Amino acid sequence: MEGDQRMSENKGSTIEEKLYTIRYKVDDISHLIIKDQQVCVKCETKECNDFCPADVYSWADLTTHVAFENCIECGTCRIGCPDYNIEWVYPKGGHGITYKFG
Ligand code: SF4
Ligand code: SF4
Repeated sequence: MEGDQRMSENKGSTIEEKLYTIRYKVDDISHLIIKDQQVCVKCETKECNDFCPADVYSWADLTTHVAFENCIECGTCRIGCPDYNIEWVYPKGGHGITYKFG
């Protein structure tokens, strides 16, 4: 009964409203590790600042900052860094994002 009601409410949802149904279980420890910040210092392109759709990576104070809690696990950074300088420590059971349907 409750499920039917929720489903009918969702029928008229906008994309923006549906995005709000993504729920995060944020871990305290980053699942994305910059292996060597010195490699980032030497990196000319800083591509991670561009390819990540969730703006997880930013360059400031000679450091690549990682807003790991914003990660939507698209996987691009596994292959996107030209120096393979981003390490995933995943999966971490129960953490990461979950999607709520219906
Ligand atoms: S693309 Fe790779 S090496 Fe370059 S700044 Fe980003 S993480 Fe560092
Ligand atoms: S997996 Fe995707 S969203 Fe997450 S940090 Fe890498 S590029 Fe960004």
